Amino acid sequence: MPTERRSLIMLFGATGDLATRKLYPAIFNLYKKGNLKEHFAVIGTSRYKFDDEKFRETVSKSVSEKGVDKKLVESFIKHFFFVTHDVTDLDHYSVLKEKAEELDKKFKLEGNRVFYISMAPNFFGTVAKNLKNQGLLTEGKGFNRLVIEKPFGRDFESAKELNDALSESFEENQIYRIDHYLGKEMIQNIEAVRFGNTIFEALWNNRYIDNIQVTLAENLGVEERAGYYDNSGALRDMVQNHIMQIVSLLAMEQPVAFKDTDIRSEKVKALRSLRVYNVAEASTNFVRGQYSASGDGETKEYREEDGVPADSNTETFVAGKLLFDNYRWSGVPFYIRTGKKLADKFTRVDVVFKKPLVDIFSFPQDGNTLLSPNVLTIHIEPEQGFSLVVNAKNGEQGFHTEPVNLDFYENSQRTKATPQPYERLIHDVLKGDGTNFSSWPEVASAWKFVDQIRRVWDIQQPMFPNYIPGSMGPVAADELLARDHREWIYKLNQ
Ligand code: NAD
Repeated sequence: MPTERRSLIMLFGATGDLATRKLYPAIFNLYKKGNLKEHFAVIGTSRYKFDDEKFRETVSKSVSEKGVDKKLVESFIKHFFFVTHDVTDLDHYSVLKEKAEELDKKFKLEGNRVFYISMAPNFFGTVAKNLKNQGLLTEGKGFNRLVIEKPFGRDFESAKELNDALSESFEENQIYRIDHYLGKEMIQNIEAVRFGNTIFEALWNNRYIDNIQVTLAENLGVEERAGYYDNSGALRDMVQNHIMQIVSLLAMEQPVAFKDTDIRSEKVKALRSLRVYNVAEASTNFVRGQYSASGDGETKEYREEDGVPADSNTETFVAGKLLFDNYRWSGVPFYIRTGKKLADKFTRVDVVFKKPLVDIFSFPQDGNTLLSPNVLTIHIEPEQGFSLVVNAKNGEQGFHTEPVNLDFYENSQRTKATPQPYERLIHDVLKGDGTNFSSWPEVASAWKFVDQIRRVWDIQQPMFPNYIPGSMGPVAADELLARDHREWIYKLNQ
């Protein structure tokens, strides 16, 4: 039986892209499943001159996929209200406050409030401050929770400034920083695989693991986000948040219990032992790339995309080697890579185990191949599943081994029924569970690491463009591993 969550959700930026594409469908799914029932209301705000009716039309359109129960949509949208509001205009907050109080009584919301800021980051601090100063936070037994989208700053300094501004109005445990990767089923599965299986957790250290590889590949380019992307680049857009979160889940120690405070403290500990590189190390251990035009002329080079300056040095690809200075991981590199216009769209983690120290099956005179390393692959998207490469006898005369794959993939029906990241994350906010959100100490450590790479890149002139669309990035990304006598597990044409 789903538990009903009572709350007012106040959404800033309610007419924006994220709200209409992701947030309304996510809230509707919670309603369909009974996590939201009678006792909830949404106040949408933006500068648009909408009324409730127009807003409800927008919400209805956003949740009405094929086969939807129209009656359910009708009852759902009755919980939606609109207030035209400029977040920089103090007078507007009193209107919002009145509306919030009215709806709190009407829907018996018990003073529970979620403030979701789905707007450009330069507004996060202003909204948080005004919510407190203008008396929109409830006092007494209800909760006040603030949800903010990425990006959280563009370096450590700006992130700290933003965090200081939010901290004036909200406590750390009231702030939910969204990293939608943490809402993905298979990212959450990393903890289940590691801590639910002796055969993995017992081997999860530098004695048995040779290296870990994390790949977040996109086959699209910057599309209509060029303006934002060119100011950010792959390091800030993907590495500082999603990749660092995935890496910290892979590297952390076992939490005392499966609860947000324990998990966060282990992730923070892991990130604090991540080696922050000096200039020489940053230049050697990180590679950047920018895509060129494709040979067939179908794809423009990055510098020719609309909204991108012709001399842009923004990276559309990053690969790097991360090292943790702790007992568990000393000597085990974590290789990461992400980029646009790559061969395919997928996210995966490859955990490469060491080969047996002695290979008793190696008979070179018989042409036998050497043992392969065991590799545990966690397929995060688009397929959700695992594969494990093990060595086995190949069934022929004589004694020859070959690597075989043990595969498990979720079937499409179960994958379809799996909650989407925003549904999961909004539900977590309503429950008050911060497990799948980034805490400030995690964000701060991640920025300190990434800033060091950025600093080096800002003073060195890159040789762009340096990779072709449809590849897996620049040659230097392969050389990064080749130098360590290793290679990427995922290669082209697999
Ligand atoms: P958007 O530009 O589509 O929407 C912004 C909203 O803010 C609009 O409703 C607009 O009317 C409102 N707004 C702007 N100025 C205002 C003001 N002064 N007062 C009141 N309302 C104002 O942006 P978006 O794409 O929906 O992104 C929202 C946030 O989510 C951003 O922080 C973005 O970085 C983040 N984000 C978006 C996506 C996405 O897929 N769109 C993905 C990840 C993160």
